[in-house]
Amino acid sequence: MKENVKEEINKQINEEMYSAYLYLAMSAYSESMDFKGFANWMMVQYLEEMDHAMGFYHFLQERNERIELFEIKKPEIEYGKPLAMFEAVLEHEKHITARIHFLYELAQREKDYAFASFLKWYIDEQVEEEVNDNEIIGKLKMLGDNSHGIYMLDKELSGRTYKKASI
Ligand code: MG
Repeated sequence: MKENVKEEINKQINEEMYSAYLYLAMSAYSESMDFKGFANWMMVQYLEEMDHAMGFYHFLQERNERIELFEIKKPEIEYGKPLAMFEAVLEHEKHITARIHFLYELAQREKDYAFASFLKWYIDEQVEEEVNDNEIIGKLKMLGDNSHGIYMLDKELSGRTYKKASI
């Protein structure tokens, strides 16, 4: 594997671990605000991000490359109203989408076809992530300050369950 490809995959493990950390912080914040459903949604998101990180980790292992773990940035403690929090989720996922697309371009430029093929799952996953976030943001915008509506949405999101990704 080319050195620059390996470096970027190691960086991506950190990006996905930070995503997990961010959503875990958002889960804790939601819990502190008594939004049990948002807290559950964020906890599932946290678990999925750990799978994303481990996908890159195992990919490097399969290719007999060295794994290098970097320091994980500290997430914020407060995230404001639910709408502001989910807008922050979408912003973060757009950043991750840009990273995945950058990795795909790198894989093609360096003719690492196995890596390019591996990334396809992540490309599709990012579309899914942004669709989900936009849907929740749309609902929250519609609800505005309607606390009963927000309570119902919180209840709806308490039904989200974790399923291990088949990366
Ligand atoms: Mg991810």
